[in-house]
Amino acid sequence: MTMNRTCTVCGQPTEIEVGFYYGTSYVSYALTIALSVASLIVWWVFIGLSVNDNRFFYWMGINAVFLIILQPWLMRLSRSLWISWFVRYDRDWKHTKPGDASERLNLDQGTNW
Ligand SMILES: [Zn+2]
Repeated sequence: MTMNRTCTVCGQPTEIEVGFYYGTSYVSYALTIALSVASLIVWWVFIGLSVNDNRFFYWMGINAVFLIILQPWLMRLSRSLWISWFVRYDRDWKHTKPGDASERLNLDQGTNW
């Protein structure tokens, strides 16, 4: 669950303001819905759905376990997507230092979510 304070390659700070990663819950939610729809389609094609038995509820249980197992990767992917929308890619990153975000940080409140 811990995250590097800066990117190990380019030095970009990973937390650029207090509570920066709160928004990743929306990204994670969208990814979860997309994965659920995909797994439902796979389930529908290979196992099928019917109102006469409990196959839909088996899918719900298996999908829930699937999403719980994937949660560490979904969290990381969500954070990566989130920061990629707010920090511009610098073509000359090897020679340019990333922007300083220290005035927007409160170290006492860091990782406080
Ligand atoms: Zn980097």
